[in-house]
Amino acid sequence: MRKLNDIQKQKHIALIAHDGKKVQLIKWINENKEILSRHFLCGTGTTARMINEETSLPIKAFESGPLGGDQQIGASIVEGKIDFMIFFWDPLSSQPHDPDVKALLRIAVL
Ligand code: PGA
Repeated sequence: MRKLNDIQKQKHIALIAHDGKKVQLIKWINENKEILSRHFLCGTGTTARMINEETSLPIKAFESGPLGGDQQIGASIVEGKIDFMIFFWDPLSSQPHDPDVKALLRIAVL
């Protein structure tokens, strides 16, 4: 299995976390900061802002998830502008934009 560290070419990586998982995502990013700093990062609004504040990594922010950010990231995946996505989703809390989350997970797997 390939590891994150094996990725040589610069990739476009989307980072998203639901509210209950944002602290865990930030922790994971800090553990992999050196590797992630070699790639282009983007994320949904609140996640991206927190990542930038907590890690100082440059990251492009889409809209917040509930305001359409998941759909923007899904569209970018379809257009080939995002190579892969890391999504710390929370299966234990309901999301107002659940249909968007499901659509994003579907298109990411596809
Ligand atoms: P957020 O959105 O980063 O703006 O909180 C995450 C999500 O898709 O729910």
